[in-house]
Amino acid sequence: MGNILKKIVYTFLLVSFLVGCKSNPISGRNQFMLVPEDMAISESRKAYIQMLTPIKNEGKLNTDPVMSERVKNITSLLVAQAIAYRPESKNWNWSVQVIDEPEVINAWCMAGGKMAIYSGLIEKLNATDDEIAQVMSHEIAHALLSHTRERMSRALAMQLGLTAMTIAVSDERYGGIAVQGTALAAIVALDLPNSRTAERESDRIGIEIAAKAGFDPQAAVTLWRKMADESGQGDSRFDFLSTHPAPVKRMEALEELTQSMMPLYKNESPKPTHPISVGNI
Ligand SMILES: [Zn+2]
Repeated sequence: MGNILKKIVYTFLLVSFLVGCKSNPISGRNQFMLVPEDMAISESRKAYIQMLTPIKNEGKLNTDPVMSERVKNITSLLVAQAIAYRPESKNWNWSVQVIDEPEVINAWCMAGGKMAIYSGLIEKLNATDDEIAQVMSHEIAHALLSHTRERMSRALAMQLGLTAMTIAVSDERYGGIAVQGTALAAIVALDLPNSRTAERESDRIGIEIAAKAGFDPQAAVTLWRKMADESGQGDSRFDFLSTHPAPVKRMEALEELTQSMMPLYKNESPKPTHPISVGNI
């Protein structure tokens, strides 16, 4: 029984892998996609609620209206540029929340444009608008390039390995686990580092989006310098650095990109905004 089960699971994973390799419309790179896009988006929505509801109940969500407004204004300029890369993302319910965790340096964007930034990133790094824009546009690029979906697929594949042991219990129970599992995969995915290829893609698209939205490309370099300088000090939690290692190498690569982004940044045409929801999770 155990062997048959193993075979079923391995065949499922192999078929999923073959079916699941998709070419990304922005990067052209083939990605392993076990999770369909619409599922990644709907499960991320569930995960967003699951993750943020307890934080909201603790009174740690958007506690500083000035900071929330600032983050909203920056992201609404970025998203207006981001949707040009993926026109259907105009219909994503883009939202951002500021999580009041003064010691945590982190930010993320789930599939479907569900974003969050921790107050520690803004306060500890004394981040400028341009620097906040760089971190958020980098995260937005991960969502546009389906990296969150790619990480969810990895998280789910890992989880399937574990779930295989419980399949035998009952079909009904497996169904229950599978449904829970995908939303969980969206949460687990936030802690999985992206590949270096995915990071390079997001660095490039992120700095480009920010430049088009009117944010200084040079801030991408200063942001990473601040991260590198601060990371060895105090008792801050640099969650962002655990999913985004090697800040020094990244700075060097970004420095090179900066020059080519300057003409985009210096374009003085009026910058559009896109509505962003804050406060509603
Ligand atoms: Zn990244």
